[in-house]
Amino acid sequence: MPNLVINNRAVEVAEGTSLLKAAREMGIEVPTLCHWEGVRPMNSCMLCVVREVKSGQLLPSCSTLVREGMEVETDGSEVCEARKEVLELLTSEHLGDCEAPCSHTCPASMNIPAMMRQIYTGDLDAAAFTVTNGLVFPWTLGYVCPAPCQNPCRRKQYDSTMQIRELHKAVAEKALKDNPELLECLPDTGKRVAIIGAGLAGMAAAWVLRKQGHACTVYEKESVAGGKLRRLPEKALPAAVLDTEIAWVARLGIDFFHDTEITEESLEPILESSDAVIVACKGVAKPGGKIFPAAEHKLAVRCVGNGKTAALWADRYLRSMDPRPKAAVFDSKAGKLAKTELETMRAVNENREAFPPAGTNGELADAREEAGRCLHCDCRKRSTCNLRRYASEYGVEKRKYTTTEERVYQVIGGDGDVIFEPGKCIKCGLCVEIARKHGEEIGLTFSGRGFDVEIKVPFGRALDQALQASAEECVAACPTAAISFRNKEDARNCHTALYTGK
Ligand code: SF4
Ligand code: SF4
Ligand code: SF4
Repeated sequence: MPNLVINNRAVEVAEGTSLLKAAREMGIEVPTLCHWEGVRPMNSCMLCVVREVKSGQLLPSCSTLVREGMEVETDGSEVCEARKEVLELLTSEHLGDCEAPCSHTCPASMNIPAMMRQIYTGDLDAAAFTVTNGLVFPWTLGYVCPAPCQNPCRRKQYDSTMQIRELHKAVAEKALKDNPELLECLPDTGKRVAIIGAGLAGMAAAWVLRKQGHACTVYEKESVAGGKLRRLPEKALPAAVLDTEIAWVARLGIDFFHDTEITEESLEPILESSDAVIVACKGVAKPGGKIFPAAEHKLAVRCVGNGKTAALWADRYLRSMDPRPKAAVFDSKAGKLAKTELETMRAVNENREAFPPAGTNGELADAREEAGRCLHCDCRKRSTCNLRRYASEYGVEKRKYTTTEERVYQVIGGDGDVIFEPGKCIKCGLCVEIARKHGEEIGLTFSGRGFDVEIKVPFGRALDQALQASAEECVAACPTAAISFRNKEDARNCHTALYTGK
């Protein structure tokens, strides 16, 4: 039984143990992309490197067996730099969108493609949940938002933009009802937050913080909430629409004090009795400590975005975390696509499933038809992709290396259950091995050499034929979304704003 030292801790392990296994048995995390239990070490991603202290050599931990007297470190600066370099090489040649361009451009970061899928499949309760948590005021914004999200819409580049604003307006108008899930809040934390200003920014902050389990009190100098939107003519925004949505916010159990102007003096006792304060109006207090700004803005949807961000910072502060997370989540962006590439996307994603029969919520038939045009530009593994996870953790520089080869967006097996997006493949070879392990008759293979190597289905056969018994495991093992199921995606929404504070 060899003895070794990992990160200054002595350990004895069984003969034939890999450094990776030895480290993990000690609770030390070593990142990997191409390691999968039950498959021989692929030795291809090199993310799992560790440093042998005596020789100074960097070794792939998945394929290096422990030797008596070894001393290794798994997290020194040299190791981290080497891993970052690996990730920068991989991400430089990566072709895919982690998040859809529409969601990126929406100042409140609403998960637009999720809404499209929910409307299309007739799950209007889920759509109501998505639009309300995303926009807080989806009906009001259906009237007043200039829809910046519709500009970068890939469907616009193909033919005409998706009617995003009309769709969330229709969902809010027709499908918002007493849905208990929508009003659910996390258990009370015992923390109190004061929100100064009941414009959209203040109320959006109150919505998010109440949902996180904090008690919220909103102070407003006017006799009604709604801020500058109250000055719009009835034709531009019916007062009843705004009133209905403010009532929705209040129903979470938020206290409102109207006709209450907060000055520097009257802020003092509020500061004393609150665990955090959101300032959503001008000139009351400087941000810092437990005071977080939620600036009002001429664009109503940006007020919502600012309110959500301030609430995120305050929530982190109340949970004793660093209020402003430093590391941004890595976001791959495919950039502008050619018409032929958009045609590929359309063929795979338009009406992604057979048009479902109208159920009890069949009244939104037009909206469902429109939602079926969506190209679902977001990635199917946006919240579980290991490449994205490690690229975020190691703070990689995007597109550090320029690739000479012009990458073209492709999808293989577009009509079948399993699809393969070569632009997202890191050529780790796990799928090839897993298909072989399952005894697939056709399986997958490497084709080409060196930098030009690719994963291919041999003999020009279809992907569904190549991956039968092994499909499930290949999708699970693939460290990116290169191999995925056409109609399945991460259940969890990856809300960029929650990570980046954008
Ligand atoms: S495979 Fe990963 S890195 Fe690539 S687009 Fe999808 S989530 Fe982003
Ligand atoms: S096609 Fe759909 S997912 Fe893509 S940008 Fe437009 S609305 Fe968003
Ligand atoms: S498709 Fe295969 S080779 Fe490519 S990243 Fe996924 S598992 Fe690895």
